[in-house]
Amino acid sequence: MWRRYTGRVTDLFAPAMSKPVVGYAHVAVERAVDRYPDGLTYAVPAEPAPLADVRPGRRVIVPLGRSDRPVAGYVVDRFDASQLDADLDPSKIKCIDRLDDAAAELPGQLIDLARWMSGYYCCPIGITLASMLPAAVKRNVGAVTRTLVDLADAPDGEPAGRLSPKQRAVLDLLASLPVDERPIEIADLASRAGLKTKGPIRKLIDAGRLTTFRKTNIEADWADRAVDTATPERLTDQQQRVLDDVSRAVGRGYSTHMLYGVTGSGKTEIYIRLMQRVLETGRSALMLVPEIALTPQTGGRLLGRFADQRVAVLHSGLTAAQRHQQWSLAASGAARIVLGTRSAVFAPIPDDQLGVIVVDEEHDGSYKQDQAPRYHGRDVAVRRAHLAGCPVLLGSATPSMESWHNAVHRRSYHLHQLPQRAPGMKLPKVRIVDFAEQRRQRRDKRVHLIGPVMEQAIERTLETGGQALILLNRRGYANYIACPDQICGWVMTCRHCDATVVYHRHGSLPAGGFVRCHHCLSEQKLPEQCPLCTRRVVTFGLGTQRVEEELSRKFASLCLGTTMLRLDADTMHSARDFHDALDRFGRGEVRVLLGTQMIAKGLDFPNVRLVGVINADTAISLPDFRATERTFQLVSQVAGRGGRSEQPGHVIVQTFHPDMPAIQLAATHDYPSFARQELAERQQCGLPPFARLARIVVRDPDHVRARTIAERTAEALRQVAAESARAGEGGRDETDRGAPAGAAPGETPSGAMLSGGGTISGGGVQVRGPSACVIARVADYHRFQVELIAATAGELQSLITAGRNRGIITPGSTMAIDVDPTALM
Ligand code: ADP
Ligand code: ZN
Ligand code: ZN
Repeated sequence: MWRRYTGRVTDLFAPAMSKPVVGYAHVAVERAVDRYPDGLTYAVPAEPAPLADVRPGRRVIVPLGRSDRPVAGYVVDRFDASQLDADLDPSKIKCIDRLDDAAAELPGQLIDLARWMSGYYCCPIGITLASMLPAAVKRNVGAVTRTLVDLADAPDGEPAGRLSPKQRAVLDLLASLPVDERPIEIADLASRAGLKTKGPIRKLIDAGRLTTFRKTNIEADWADRAVDTATPERLTDQQQRVLDDVSRAVGRGYSTHMLYGVTGSGKTEIYIRLMQRVLETGRSALMLVPEIALTPQTGGRLLGRFADQRVAVLHSGLTAAQRHQQWSLAASGAARIVLGTRSAVFAPIPDDQLGVIVVDEEHDGSYKQDQAPRYHGRDVAVRRAHLAGCPVLLGSATPSMESWHNAVHRRSYHLHQLPQRAPGMKLPKVRIVDFAEQRRQRRDKRVHLIGPVMEQAIERTLETGGQALILLNRRGYANYIACPDQICGWVMTCRHCDATVVYHRHGSLPAGGFVRCHHCLSEQKLPEQCPLCTRRVVTFGLGTQRVEEELSRKFASLCLGTTMLRLDADTMHSARDFHDALDRFGRGEVRVLLGTQMIAKGLDFPNVRLVGVINADTAISLPDFRATERTFQLVSQVAGRGGRSEQPGHVIVQTFHPDMPAIQLAATHDYPSFARQELAERQQCGLPPFARLARIVVRDPDHVRARTIAERTAEALRQVAAESARAGEGGRDETDRGAPAGAAPGETPSGAMLSGGGTISGGGVQVRGPSACVIARVADYHRFQVELIAATAGELQSLITAGRNRGIITPGSTMAIDVDPTALM
């Protein structure tokens, strides 16, 4: 069943007929046709002229397959007959059908970036390119073409004496307009000339007295965007030093900078001033932020501070027309600042214009895309900066282990630090409370998610006019529905997945709620009885809904929807909801914000005097080597929301593991010590960043088929790995082609040895599995995984490329490849 890769394949079935041809092009079609790295070969016809001049980056329509089905694709490069592959018969090469007039052209740098991504992340290049161009741009949403008019240069129509008074008034008005207001829209001209109809203008056009122009604008509705102009008077000495150090790299080619600064240390202020300096050099800046969470506040700050420059904003909360409009502002070069989430790394800033890339909260999980191409926005940003020849600045209060390792140990990044908070703010005091102990203190039998210590703190905060953030990183009401009889042991699982389901309360439903699977999103009624022994079911576990219920019960002044809001994926349906919620909190009418990690990130509200973490352990038990790192990040980040004014901030962290180092060190805001411990452990176990991982997941509705395909894949890859180990290749010479996760592209491998796993050392790639995935079935598909582990990115890349060329690795619906995976379930 393996399809063989045969080099540069042409879509051969239908010949080009006898159209005259002016050259050839590689076209990456928007289909899962994996022709790495260039796509298919097509001929460029001599007619019509715009098509004959087609350039890389253009979206075109080409015939594909036996039936010549028209499909969209991107021209990746152009060449002439002399560069055509020798084994291709020119008379059999099909012609490009036509240009896709609606879609804008991608800059050349993005084509290069796509080529690299297609290789590194093992994704067909057409799919990679398709994901760079927003659907709204492909569909030309919001484009409005209007007619403008101006005085004709040499009027050859009726003599002036024969014009009506209205027509003459129009000509006089036009002649009196300053040059930069001409040509002018017909409707605008009519209203300025005091006309009720456009008739007189139309007659002037017909008479040859006016010339017409057509102009297309992308129009979109915008509600008022929040603008924040507050500017600190002067930087602290520390900030100034960091700014000067990073600024020195501007205009001097590619370099990577890591800014480690505790929460509230004024990192954003540095990004803003760095971008100002870049703008002064005539170039543009790109800034990435995680998810929609940060954009209302960060967006407001950028819009306020760069009022005279155009700021384009790209995130998932935009309407199609807004997205197209913002994208076009970036593409035309009119926007000098582009701010956006993960996919904004593909902003079409013209080649040679990009002067700096800033990646805020570089550790954030939302930078990783969980469908093909499974790229990491931070790593792609590093690669893009390399292609653009500009510096890239990665900032965080809790850097990823990958970036910290690169900055501190491999020294491939320049490290800058802000160990103290901005003036007037102190890091909050964090108190760890033992959840088990707190529960014992309660006499009644009810479930209490809020222990006595936290309860008192909330009370005090509300009494003294402060605000509180309460975090629980789990949605729903309860995540465990079971039979109370331990001998029976029934636990409710999803019908389509090997996973437990989550109970969601819903006031308007008769049974009080429903259960939902968070993997396939299917829903069922909450059963009343155990299906095995008919006992009444019980619900365990925690969720934000349960906390919400408890807060309303314990604090009379808290009323959901007015003085208290819950922010999680179930209540926040759009960026607008989120924006509004933060607005109401900022104004002070909402006293308590309760939510998932959405409230842990980036928020800057001075009146937050209490941050409560209901349970710091939600990530700890997951079978993922990053569980400890995530726990540290979550606790540090949410704690960092407190203490942002002269008022002292308090943080209370409830946990069943009060002695765990990740929690202890987060409480003392000691990232460097945490990183030291965590990296030592990773090194001992041969885990990233001391090794490189790729994960192949095979899925099929048929269990045996899924396992068989996974077994064959693993076996074939083992053979390839053994062959190259024997040939002594090891892939070292190819290292430069892969940009290591968060590492500088083009640098030499670390040569880190793996231990613990014990099977590989320095050379070779270990192929593990297949084994059933942790969640062995999702949406009725059985899932098996094969893991590839190598000491260096280069070795991993050469095995993946070899596997792909031999048709062993076939990215598609059955097989998903995840390079540098962040989710291991
Ligand atoms: P971070 O991005 O590191 O969390 P921010 O840049 O958001 O920090 O700064 C936190 C707060 O401190 C903001 O309200 C900001 O206006 C303020 N701030 C930053 N730098 C200074 C400074 N030099 N002097 C006074 N206030 C500052
Ligand atoms: Zn399910
Ligand atoms: Zn039972």
